[in-house]
Amino acid sequence: MGIADYEAPIGDILLAMDVAGLDEVLALPAYAELDRESVELALAEFGRFAGDVVAPTDRLGDLEGSVLDPVASVVRTPTGFRAVYAQYVASGWGAVQFPVAYGGGGLPSLVGIALQEMLASANLALSLNPVLTQSAIELLLTWGSEDQRVLYLPKLLTGEWCGTMNLTEPEAGSDLGEVRTSGIRDTDGRWRISGTKIFITWGEHDMAENIVHLVLARTPGAPAGTKGLSLFLVPKVMVTSDGTLGQSNTLHCLRVEEKLGIHASPTCVMEFDKAVGELVGDEHGGIRAMFTMMNAARLSIGLQGPSVAERAFQHAHRYAADRQQGRGPGVAPPQRSVLVDHPDVRRMLLSMRTSALAGRLLVYTATRYRDIARQGDDPETRSSAQGYVDLLTPVAKAWSSDIGFAAASTGVQILGGAGYIEESGMAQRLRDSRIAPIYEGTNGIQAIDLVMRKLPRDDGRWIRALIDDVVTTAGNRPSRPGSLTHSYAALADAVSILQATTEHLLLLIDRSREDALAGATSYLELLGSTLGGWLMVRRAERARQVGPEIAARAASESEFFATEHVARASGLERPILSGARRLSVLY
Ligand SMILES: Cc1cc2nc3c(=O)[nH]c(=O)nc-3n(C[C@H](O)[C@H](O)[C@H](O)COP(=O)(O)OP(=O)(O)OC[C@H]3O[C@@H](n4cnc5c(N)ncnc54)[C@H](O)[C@@H]3O)c2cc1C
Repeated sequence: MGIADYEAPIGDILLAMDVAGLDEVLALPAYAELDRESVELALAEFGRFAGDVVAPTDRLGDLEGSVLDPVASVVRTPTGFRAVYAQYVASGWGAVQFPVAYGGGGLPSLVGIALQEMLASANLALSLNPVLTQSAIELLLTWGSEDQRVLYLPKLLTGEWCGTMNLTEPEAGSDLGEVRTSGIRDTDGRWRISGTKIFITWGEHDMAENIVHLVLARTPGAPAGTKGLSLFLVPKVMVTSDGTLGQSNTLHCLRVEEKLGIHASPTCVMEFDKAVGELVGDEHGGIRAMFTMMNAARLSIGLQGPSVAERAFQHAHRYAADRQQGRGPGVAPPQRSVLVDHPDVRRMLLSMRTSALAGRLLVYTATRYRDIARQGDDPETRSSAQGYVDLLTPVAKAWSSDIGFAAASTGVQILGGAGYIEESGMAQRLRDSRIAPIYEGTNGIQAIDLVMRKLPRDDGRWIRALIDDVVTTAGNRPSRPGSLTHSYAALADAVSILQATTEHLLLLIDRSREDALAGATSYLELLGSTLGGWLMVRRAERARQVGPEIAARAASESEFFATEHVARASGLERPILSGARRLSVLY
């Protein structure tokens, strides 16, 4: 195994799925045909594909990038991408978590998210393509007409066609109310879409025969703001009623952006010039429909944090086990120590590893609720699970992507000067992971969504229920000191601060919006860290069922995370409560 290679951590992934609730998901009637062994086999096979086939394309993808051929008006992907993607399509990996009725594998999203993680670790830029396609599938499953589902879903499920998300315009980034792209009904009754969208991920490329663009646009006379937006399906190549490909549509890629990282993922300026589109859902119902796609994608983007952290950790760990520098405690000349024997390097490595573990646990837990929200036995169970999904999505997106970027930065630090040199490959982790806190709604916008919309929902019912769950775990603290002493103690402290700040914010939202907004990001961090600590404790508890060695390691990892991360989170109380006055100093 090369120093920068990727080996899928199947044992860690399975344990995370167990903590998230794999047994409970498999017990749902929808998955009666599925057993644990099949899940394990799928993970192992995909893990091999990710490690052996996909990961070797990652570096070349970064060096070559995806490039617009202006003459042919196509975007050429880096060497090896088409072949790898064709293999992914041929094996049917993209379809595993979708309904059998449209050609899917009928597996839970919890399995799908584990596959997404491995793909993202192996090649983040490439993985964005299936992320967008799968999010488009979620949208069409919920909002598409039966005709649209029958026509588009089977090929999107296989990955023969890809999907994109077209929201952003020069004047409409975080503020989608400013979208100006228009959708006008023509005399032939068809909708024509015109406008320019920017930053469109995989907006154009040579890996699939068709690209299905989901475009937010405004119809004539529509109200201002997001309420006036409608959603259109605009294929690159038009599809006839029998599913065959017809004429090219009037849309094209004007430019592929030069950017900091994910060079292989083409970030396109797309021009729609009276392109033929189909309305998806109701006119003016576009933002609601698009939220289905965005929420699915937000979990996938949050997942990029632990995916990068895992890959960077593996690299840094191998490097630190090999490079000799100085002498660790108790080592006398002429002996030298490898980096991993220095306490500070061990601290950095453990911080990377536990970030990957905790971020994974959080995203998988949100995904498990998504499965129950869809397939739960009764309406009450489903709506309760949906309450958790809605609450957890902004935290999973923002907290996990933030700690993933921090872990990539620590990876550079562990390699020292070599980490800063492109040839090492670690710099790519740092560059690639910087986008996750920005796209799919910046992390600042996630914090606002969490505090202003998700906390007060149903009079604070979901956040209070979630806090109660954490309090219950913290209450499991044994009366005598044991292997998880710090974990329970730090969790109890953090959750009591979380409880107090939550109640404070719930009151503040109505009284002083500005003060609540000023504390939103710190609150999200506190919630993420507390949930991370909670899940790490539950992981340590669950690991006892796996075996003594794994149990001991999981307990130590939980203790490390508690002291280094959860305990520090308690210090966030002050910025959450301090309000907006402290910000007035800025001129
Ligand atoms: C590589 C890449 C890929 C992308 N892929 C896609 C894609 O596939 N489809 C698509 O539609 N878009 C895509 N985007 C666009 C992306 O989603 C936006 O860049 C992002 O939502 C932020 O919008 P913006 O860049 O206009 O920043 P702005 O909205 O200008 O925000 C700038 C800063 O101000 C903050 N801010 C803005 N408004 C507020 C507010 N009300 N309150 C507090 N803070 C605020 C933000 O948090 C941010 O820190 C992509 C972008 C990049 C760079």
